[in-house]
Order: sequence, then structure tokens, then C-alpha cells
Amino acid sequence: MPSSFIEINKNALANNIKHITSLIDDNVVISSVLKGNAYGHGINIMVPALQEIGINHFSVFNSLEAQQVYNSAKGNFTIMIMGDINDEDAEWVIDNEIEFYVFNLHRIENMLKIAVKKQKPINIHLEIETGMNRTGFNKENWNELAELINKNKTHINVKGICTHYAGSESISNYMRIKQQRQAFKKSIKYFKSQDIKPERIHSSCSAAILVYPKDNFDMVRIGILQYGLWPSRETFISHLTKKKLTNDPLTPILSWKSYVMDIKHVSKGEYIGYGNSYLAETNMTIASIPVGYSYGYSRSLSNQGRVIIKNSRLSVIGIVNMNMLLIDITTNENITIKDEVILIGSNNALEITVSSFGNITDQLNYEVLSRIDKDIPRTIK
Ligand SMILES: *Cc1c(COP(=O)(O)O)cnc(C)c1O
Repeated sequence: MPSSFIEINKNALANNIKHITSLIDDNVVISSVLKGNAYGHGINIMVPALQEIGINHFSVFNSLEAQQVYNSAKGNFTIMIMGDINDEDAEWVIDNEIEFYVFNLHRIENMLKIAVKKQKPINIHLEIETGMNRTGFNKENWNELAELINKNKTHINVKGICTHYAGSESISNYMRIKQQRQAFKKSIKYFKSQDIKPERIHSSCSAAILVYPKDNFDMVRIGILQYGLWPSRETFISHLTKKKLTNDPLTPILSWKSYVMDIKHVSKGEYIGYGNSYLAETNMTIASIPVGYSYGYSRSLSNQGRVIIKNSRLSVIGIVNMNMLLIDITTNENITIKDEVILIGSNNALEITVSSFGNITDQLNYEVLSRIDKDIPRTIK
């Protein structure tokens, strides 16, 4: 048996997807972003759950994740690789009609070579550089790209044209994003003028559908919102205001639980744990929990984190170890060995949120989630 486990809440997922759907037009496809082991939720858990509620378009970062999605998916579905393709996976990608971004001529030429040999087409999305300066075709290369595509029309399906905004979750990036949106529209026009008609146009992530809803085009790439969390505090507040909501319309779908491994009494004046970061100022009772930073429970939560045990919110004391953390249970005499411990999640009125973790450790929701050890067993309920 493992020392901790993760539960994914199916109803909450359905609720989140419903809310996202209510924000976009009927013709807009949701591509569910499952990179980083589905933001720590588990690709093999998320794919069947998403398919059950009608989501069949999946975005991943690399070819390994594409294979994980492929192995979990059933029936008709589409996988889109937004980043890396390992050379050894290139044939698999083509054989299984996996769609992928092209952001340089090197990739498209390489993949095309294999495709011609196999007499199969490649299914590409033209990633356009619009100002993020990460990956994407610069304007100077559009011509060359268009010529290459038109010369190899029988072997290339242009499935999409796309870009990514450099921080749509913050109003402080407004001008930069505005320029990106204009540059993207120019690129769409250009490729159309070259008789290249991508099947889909997509640029928006979670934050962009909230902040720039007019530019959803016909597909949006949604990560963080489907998991029930917000791209930033700013997007959360502005969404509530804009929609005149009083409650968070999303529900986090992940909870992370463990149990009390041991209970011990410590005398006044003793230090607790490594070093001298925590001094017992009274006689204390402490519980040890078999979870530490090697599972993704950040060391920055030392002396700061909170957990829920038996309807009480309790403090992490001392330094978070590789495999263990300690909780002050001095005032809770009813806690016993094997009692459930909620690291992330809720219990009646009490809740430990991913964002509260993040606020303390200065990590984003994204980082907290994706660092949770992928070997912790996940179940869906
Ligand atoms: C991660 C990612 C997304 C999804 O971002 P969220 O903020 O989680 O919705 C969309 N597009 C690209 C290119 C990404 O890398």
C-alpha cells in the first residue's frame, strides 16, 4: 500500500467543463490540455473521464505524453503535440495520425521525409511567432513555409494555425497580447492568401478565454480551468465581477490524502525535527505523516503548511523531510494512528486549496500540481 493517495472527483470535472462550455460559442472545440501528467492529475485517469463527458480532443507537450493519452483513449479522438517529438517516436506519430505543431522547417522537413517513405500524410499545426518569442515561425519564414507546404500538398494536412500568448492571466501584459493578437490575424490572412486553409484556428488558453473571449476562433486549449483552478487570482476576481457571481463556479477536482503514521510527545524546550527551526515552547504532541518533498510536498511548507485531520486545521511544524512531515496535534487528543490526513482537499467546512499552498511557497497552481509524484496512486470517484 502507498503512503498517500489521490482522488479525482468526476462530478466536479463535469461541473467545470460545463462552466467552460458556457463561456464559449457552440462551434468552439475544447482541446483538453494534459501535459505534465495532466497537471499532476494522471493522464490515464483524466482521459476516460473526459471522454465520458464528451471531450475528445487532447493537447500534450511531447510524444511520450501523446502515447500515454493514446493508450488511455477509446473510439474517435484527436491528439495534438504542442512541443517535442522524440526522433524515436516520429514514425509512431505519423502511423497513428497524431497531430503536431511545426515551428521550424527542420521539423516539417524531417517528418515529411518519413511520411513520404510511409506514403502517409503528416497532420500539422502551423505555430506562428507573434511575440512570445518561445517557438513559432517568424514572419521572415512564412514564405518558405508556404512554398514547402504547397509543394508537398498531398503529404501534408494543415490541421491548424496557432499561437500562444505571453501571459494573458495578467492585465499588465495587455499591450503585448494585443500586438500578438494583431500579428496572429495577419498570419492567418497571409496563409489564406497562399491558398493554405487550416482546418482550425486556435490561440486561447484558460486565461485568454476569460480575458479575450472574442478571439476564441474555433478551438481553445484549456488546462487549468478544467481542473477547477484559476490561471491567477486576478482572472478569478475579474471573472466573478464580470459574471456577477458570488461563489467560485469551479470546483478543484483533486484531493491528496495520507494518514497518521505515528504520534509522539515532546517536552517543553526540545527542538523538533532537523536543525533548530522549531522549538517546543510547551509540552507538545506531534503526528508524523509519511509524505515529504520527494512526493511533491514542497519543503517551503516547512513550519507553514496546514493539513486537515478529524475536522481540524493543523500546522506543519519543523522542516518538511524527504518522506515525512510533522503536525502539531497538541490540542487534539482524539487523533489516533491511521487517522486520515487531508493534504489538499476539503472536509465539510474546511479546505486546503492548491492556491493556498502556492501563496506560501510562491509557486503557481500549475507548479504545485505538476510536481505531485506521478507514482502516487490515483483513483476517480
Ligand atoms: C499549457 C498550455 C495551454 C493551457 O494553459 P492553461 O493556462 O492551463 O489553460 C495552452 N496552450 C499551450 C501552448 C500551453 O503550453
